[in-house]
Amino acid sequence: MILCIIKPIKLDIGFIFDLRYIPFIIVALFGGRKSVFPLYIILNACRFYVGGPGMLESFLFSTGAFILIPVYSKTFLKLDSRGRVVAAAAIAFLTMGCYLATLSLILGVSDRQFQTLAWNALTTYVGVISVIMILIEKILINFKNRERILQSERLKVVSQLAASVSHEIRNPLTVTSGFLQMLQKSATITPEEKKFVDLSLQELNRAEKIVSDYLSFAKPQSENLVYSNMIDELEYTKNVIMPYASIHAVEVKFSFSNSLRIRYDRNQIQQCLINIYKNGIEAMKETGGGILSIDVAERKQHIVISIRDTGIGMTKEEISRLGKPYYSTKAEGTGLGMLMVYSTIDKVKGVIEVESEKGIGTTFLITIPVSDR
Ligand code: ADP
Ligand code: MG
Repeated sequence: MILCIIKPIKLDIGFIFDLRYIPFIIVALFGGRKSVFPLYIILNACRFYVGGPGMLESFLFSTGAFILIPVYSKTFLKLDSRGRVVAAAAIAFLTMGCYLATLSLILGVSDRQFQTLAWNALTTYVGVISVIMILIEKILINFKNRERILQSERLKVVSQLAASVSHEIRNPLTVTSGFLQMLQKSATITPEEKKFVDLSLQELNRAEKIVSDYLSFAKPQSENLVYSNMIDELEYTKNVIMPYASIHAVEVKFSFSNSLRIRYDRNQIQQCLINIYKNGIEAMKETGGGILSIDVAERKQHIVISIRDTGIGMTKEEISRLGKPYYSTKAEGTGLGMLMVYSTIDKVKGVIEVESEKGIGTTFLITIPVSDR
């Protein structure tokens, strides 16, 4: 921007033209008012330093841009990649258009020469900002893809490990529990010894359950595959979580309006939902209760599941660590819950978006595309 202002194109009809508003617009759109403020200062400081006529006009104009453009920032960030390129180009067009219009009023020119100039200025602005925006969007997409690939690598490693370990452990568990059951039925066993055997069996069952949970997140089992709109799983998991919610003073709100169907592993989806609910409730446990809202709807051939809590929330940094193996902030946490969530949603080709604010709460937004039978 500084270089643009120092070395502008000086035109015969007495005004100067440069691309200073391109960085200004881009920063204002992506970063909002706070980020563009330094640019606003630099722009005017530079302009005053350069001096010459048109200083006041430039100041007024940049103030207008500084006030107006960031207003659109929030909407802008919600657009998709292509939308943002088009929006930025449109705003550059408008900004330059306003600039030229005021100029023509102030200088009192509107002849052919000015028109050609205006046309060139407008197309240059729109062209340059489009190229820059396309590059920025490409970089952003690359960045996202890299994260996705890394995450899926991580999932693959963990689930392979989990699958092989749990498979190896399951056999000895089954054998041991078989022999203990025989011992339990033995005629010569004393009541004291029987108590020990019962306890051992109980613990073995627990170990087996943990192992099955791990195995279930390793690979889908064909007998569990269903093709449905998820109502059963959502109802079931909501009921499962109810007692846990009520002992922590959490109210559960539930709404379901979805007719789209997808193919999924019933156990895995149940486990996945329970993991998210549990995290939500645990986040509210520390603030003495709250509301867990579960909302399922359909939108453009996608099932949209929104799970919102009013718990402690997370910082941006914490959100970015979600789903990494063994990341947990809880004393007794395993840091495997979210990993399983990401792995399961990944298998049904869904995406998870997390919105969270420290002290306010967290929303998990899961979007799953419909699938064929
Ligand atoms: P665990 O629950 O065993 O700690 P998870 O993988 O389920 O492991 O979660 C990882 C971490 O993510 C949690 O320790 C917590 O810090 C954070 N987290 C997950 N969900 C939420 C939530 N709804 N609100 C706040 N923090 C959360
Ligand atoms: Mg958890």
